[in-house]
Amino acid sequence: TFISFEGPDGAGKTSVLRAIVARLQPELGERLLLTREPGGTDNKIAEAIRDLVLDPANTDMDQRTEALLYAASRRQHLVQTILPALEADKVVITDRYVDSSIAYQGGGRELGTDAVATINDFAIEGFMPQATVYLDIRPEIGLERIQTTRQDEVNRLDVEALSFHQRVSDAYHELAKQYPDRFLMINAEQKLDAVIADTWAALAPILGM
Ligand code: C5P
Ligand code: MG
Repeated sequence: TFISFEGPDGAGKTSVLRAIVARLQPELGERLLLTREPGGTDNKIAEAIRDLVLDPANTDMDQRTEALLYAASRRQHLVQTILPALEADKVVITDRYVDSSIAYQGGGRELGTDAVATINDFAIEGFMPQATVYLDIRPEIGLERIQTTRQDEVNRLDVEALSFHQRVSDAYHELAKQYPDRFLMINAEQKLDAVIADTWAALAPILGM
């Protein structure tokens, strides 16, 4: 089973994922793999690309270079981390996948969602998750949360303008409309406990729990 988590910055993705994993761990143990993009669990090449694209010092990175690097990182992540785990019958949960590129580089950076989908098609060869948990939050609320509660690394994206995050959100909603069966829409403006409860309720049937 292959599941992705998506959402704009400040949606609470990290906290929700932590809670879901804590709940799945006793049941699945070694059969659960939590991984993330850009980068990936135990994936040296993909993590090296992550460091490159998220380094706040790299303000001179060309936007198409950035999009290609995300796609390259994803390719390595898929081939070296995700597919072998699925082959071993694991449940793979990834913190971000191709929808992030379509939303951030296609929408946010205005490279065009079709163009970004095309370069990513080369990278993933159509391989998609069964379900995508989308933590839905208005960008202004998400940004406010980042400014008041951010505890993890501050990265290059955290300083983008509200208009950037609005385009990211719009692109995500377009994808959700396009793939209503895959997208599990969760209201992430609720209290964390409620977001976690809704996410669990949406995922449990897919995981057979
Ligand atoms: O998931 P997390 O918020 O930790 O992602 C790290 C950063 O990478 C975020 O700020 C996100 O906006 C950015 N990102 C991006 N394009 C992607 C994936 C992530 O700009 N394709
Ligand atoms: Mg983030």
